[in-house]
Amino acid sequence: MTATDTTTEAALVHDVHWKIDYRVKLGRAWSRFMRGLQKQELWGTRCESCQRSYVPAQDYCEACYEKITNWVQLEPTGTLRAATIVYQGFEGGPEAPYVVGAVEIDGTHSLLMHFIGGVDLSDSDAARAVLRDGLRVRAVWSDERTAAITDIKHFAVEQA
Ligand SMILES: [Zn+2]
Repeated sequence: MTATDTTTEAALVHDVHWKIDYRVKLGRAWSRFMRGLQKQELWGTRCESCQRSYVPAQDYCEACYEKITNWVQLEPTGTLRAATIVYQGFEGGPEAPYVVGAVEIDGTHSLLMHFIGGVDLSDSDAARAVLRDGLRVRAVWSDERTAAITDIKHFAVEQA
């Protein structure tokens, strides 16, 4: 039996409010990764079995499942692989609009989700044209660092 959806009703809209305080134990790899950020150093892990590298650092290789103990210091540069402009912020977050992007740090095989700064968002079409796959970016360090992912303030378009 089949049926054709002929619904013409408008989609439902629900108002939702989240306020969540929580504590996360980062584990060995992420703790070392975050302590590096505090010193303005970007560290990743490299699988000795398949040579894949990860930022943020991982204890296990997601490709071959081997335990990773090899650390590599990386330049804080990479390539933007995807981005979105956020127009609706959330409590405790940055003031919207802002950009979140997936950055492939040079020499790695993973994506680091972070803010992309320094992009003029007054014209969203122009901003989307800038935020293309392949855009070169560089980490901008926060002045005050606390061994947290926000020790990188954002990634900015790398100047040639
Ligand atoms: Zn591997």
